[in-house]
Amino acid sequence: MTKKFDVIVIGAGPAGYVAAIRCAQLGLKTACVDEWQNPAGEPSLGGTCLNVGCIPSKALLESSYLFHQAQTGLMDHGISVAKAAIDVAAMMKRKNRVVGDLTSGIAGLLKTSKVELFHGHARLVSGKQVRLKPRRSKNVLQTLAADHIIIATGSSAVRLDRAKLKKDFICDSTGALDFETVPERLGIIGAGAIGLELGSVWSRLGSKVVLLEAMDSFIPAADTQVAQLALRGLKKQGLDIRLGARLLTTQMKGQAVVVEYETSAGKRSEEFDKLIVAVGRKPNSDLLLDEEMKLELDERRFILVNEFCETSAPDIYAIGDVVRGPMLAHKGSEEGIMVAERIAGHYASVNYDAIPSVIYTHPEIAWVGKTEQDCKSLNIPIKTGSFPLLASGRARAMNEKEGMVKIISHTETDRVLGVHIYGTQASELIATAVSAITMEASTEDIQLTMFAHPTLSEAIHEAALHVDGRAIHIKN
Ligand code: FAD
Ligand code: NAD
Repeated sequence: MTKKFDVIVIGAGPAGYVAAIRCAQLGLKTACVDEWQNPAGEPSLGGTCLNVGCIPSKALLESSYLFHQAQTGLMDHGISVAKAAIDVAAMMKRKNRVVGDLTSGIAGLLKTSKVELFHGHARLVSGKQVRLKPRRSKNVLQTLAADHIIIATGSSAVRLDRAKLKKDFICDSTGALDFETVPERLGIIGAGAIGLELGSVWSRLGSKVVLLEAMDSFIPAADTQVAQLALRGLKKQGLDIRLGARLLTTQMKGQAVVVEYETSAGKRSEEFDKLIVAVGRKPNSDLLLDEEMKLELDERRFILVNEFCETSAPDIYAIGDVVRGPMLAHKGSEEGIMVAERIAGHYASVNYDAIPSVIYTHPEIAWVGKTEQDCKSLNIPIKTGSFPLLASGRARAMNEKEGMVKIISHTETDRVLGVHIYGTQASELIATAVSAITMEASTEDIQLTMFAHPTLSEAIHEAALHVDGRAIHIKN
C-alpha cells in the first residue's frame, strides 16, 4: 500500500533534516528518507556534515589545536606541561562520541517534530512517488507518495583515476578522519577547505604535510590580499603548500605512496606514508532518479533549480549540495527552510549574496560577500578599510596577533559589499559582517555601532572606521 504525505524529504543531511523539521512545524504531514548508516550498520542522521564532515573535522581540529598549544603555545603564558602526548585512539573516541551524540540528537528532533522517518534508499519515480528500498529488509520495496518532494541527497567526494583509493595508503576525507596513528609523511592532493583543515589536524599532531594544489592561486574564492596573508601564515606553521602542482601518477613503493607531479619547474616526485585525495565533491544525483523520471541536470550533474530551488518538474524541489552554489551546510539548511515556507504558502527567499565561508585553520579564514577582485571585474567602484589584529588589545592579550579584518564598501552608497577576515575566531566574527550585509548596512552604520572592549570584534569597528580614514588605533 502506498503511504501518502504532504511532503517527502529525501536525505537527512543539514539541508534535508532542517527542511523536514520546518515542514512539520508548519503543519505539513512530512516523511524523511535517509540511507546513511554508521560503521555499525545503524541509521545515522545528519548526512555528510554530522557523520564525516563539519562535525568530526572540527572535533579533530579542536583536539589537535589543544595538543599543539600544550606543546608550544602555553610556554609564553608561563605554563609548562611536562610532556604533552597524543593518544590517537582516545582522540578518535571523543570525536566519535561527539558525532554519535549529535546524530542521535537529530533522530530525537525529527521524532518530536512528528516527522516520519524511513531508513533506506529512495528512488524518485514519476507521479511524485518515492520507491523505498529499506536498508534492513533487503527485498521489501515500499512506495511513498506526496504532494511535494524535496530532494536533499547531498554530495560525495570526487575520485581521481590517477590516485585510486587504496586501503591504509590512499584515502578521501572520510578515511583521513579515522587514521589510527599519526603518519610521518602525509601528502594531500588539493589545498581547498578539506586539504587545509585535515592538513592542519595532522600537521599539529606531528605529520610533515605536503599539499599539492593544481591551481596557481591559493583559495581563489577568498579575497586575494587575505588569501596571501593566510598562505604565508600557514606555510610558516609548516604546511608545505605547493601551488601549480599537477598530479601525474601515484604508485606504491613498499609501504610508501610515490606521487609524481608536475610544476612549471618540471616533473617532481615525493614519497608519503599516506595520501589524502581532497579535490572537491560531486552531487548525489545518479542513483536517485528512476529511468522514466525526467528531471533536468546541468553539465556537472547538479539538479537544475531556480532561485527558489524549484526543479524542472512541478512540486519537486532540490536543495543543498545536490544543487548549484557553495557546498556548505548552512546554505543547504537555509534553502530547506525557504522551500518548506514556500510549500506552506508563505513568501521566503535565500540571500545568496550573504553566505559566509569559513576555513577552520588556525588562524581561521572567513569571508562574506564580494572580494576586491570580484568588484574590479564587475567594475564596481569601492572603498576599502582594514585593521591588523596586531593593533587589537584583545588579540595581543590572547597571543593571537596574526591576521587582519578587511571591509569593502561601495564608493557612492557606502553599502558594505564584502568582509574578509584572517584571524583567530574569524568564524564567529564573520557573523557580524553577515548581519551587516543582510541588513544592507553601510560602513557608517558599523562606525556608529558600539563594540565591547576589549574584544576581537573591535577590529571590525576599526576596519569600518578605516574605510573613511577615521581608525583610532592605526595610522589612516
Ligand atoms: P549531505 O549532508 O551529504 O546529506 C545527504 C543525505 O542524503 C545523506 O545522509 C545521504 O546518505 C542521503 N541520501 C543520498 N541519496 C539518497 C537516496 N537516494 N535515498 C536516501 N538517502 C539518500 N560545510 C560547512 O558548512 N562547514 C564545515 O565546516 C564543513 N566541513 C566539512 C568537512 C568535510 C570533511 C566535508 C566532507 C564536508 C564539510 N562541509 C562543511 C560540507 C558539508 O558537509 C555539506 O555542505 C553538507 O553536508 C551538505 O548537506 P546536504 O544535506 O545537502 O547533504
Ligand atoms: P574544494 O573545492 O574546496 O578544494 C579542492 C581543491 O583541489 C581545489 O583547490 C582544486 O583546485 C584542487 N584540485 C582539484 N583537482 C586537483 C588535482 N587533480 N590535483 C591537485 N589539486 C586539485 O574541495 P574540498 O576541499 O574537497 O571540499 C569539498 C567541499 O566541501 C567544498 O565545496 C567545501 O565547501 C566543503 N567543505 C567546507 C568546509 C568548511 O566550510 N569549512 C570544510 C571542508 C569542506
